[in-house]
Amino acid sequence: MNQLLELKSLRKSFASNLVLDDVSINFPAQSATVIIGASGSGKSTLMRCMNLLEELNDGQILLAGSDISAYGIDLDSVRGQIGSVFQAFNLFPHLTVVENITLAPRLVHGQSKNDAEKSARELLARFGLSEKADEYPNLLSGGQQQRVAIIRAIATNPKLLLLDEVTSALDPVLIAEVLSLIAELKRDGMTMVIATHEMGFAKKIADNVVFLHQGKVHESGTPAEIFDSPKTQELKDFLGALHQAGRL
Ligand code: ADP
Ligand code: MG
Repeated sequence: MNQLLELKSLRKSFASNLVLDDVSINFPAQSATVIIGASGSGKSTLMRCMNLLEELNDGQILLAGSDISAYGIDLDSVRGQIGSVFQAFNLFPHLTVVENITLAPRLVHGQSKNDAEKSARELLARFGLSEKADEYPNLLSGGQQQRVAIIRAIATNPKLLLLDEVTSALDPVLIAEVLSLIAELKRDGMTMVIATHEMGFAKKIADNVVFLHQGKVHESGTPAEIFDSPKTQELKDFLGALHQAGRL
């Protein structure tokens, strides 16, 4: 299978705390991989390693076959190929929606203002946000802000999209609109890595599910394998706790 991203034996610690312990995962092109695991299991650190926001202690990361973890790599050029959105809405408050979306295409990818704006407005129209184009972020709902943040992340046509708990700060109604945007990107063939607590969504959208436990890939497989036939006690316990909390 054509692997877009390959993580090979990643190790990452903060001082004496080993947070990622020999993590190896392959991400096929055009697949959606959902990372699950308890709070503190290392999901965010793993995703931050993927776009080189964290320095590895050991291991290798290949993006489309080339080693992006190699010494001396151009960090900006790698990050330009990877879109990422995190839990907190990180839109720039002093820029309008269109200005937020066109910033990277213009500054990092050298698009003209007109071209970047045209693409931004097309994306906003496609995702039902046209009338917000010239608003400032604080006038948008949390769900709208997070959808704009995702649109901003894809405006540079990244090879890979990282979504780290993008709905966890939102109310249920707003969660649904963000998840439907993500599902549409999946239909477009975007390769995605998603950390989420929305297990129903994970089951529906994932091609592969990875269960992280104490910094290790404890189990991985299809949604059916992970959710319906967990093998390890740790995964059974994790799913059991979600079930009890009414989240599964
Ligand atoms: P998750 O996203 O699964 O909740 P994280 O990757 O945020 O897990 O955290 C994994 C572990 O790494 C935790 O023990 C956390 O305290 C630690 N950690 C994460 N970021 C840092 C940091 N910048 N400095 C020190 N420890 C960190
Ligand atoms: Mg996290």
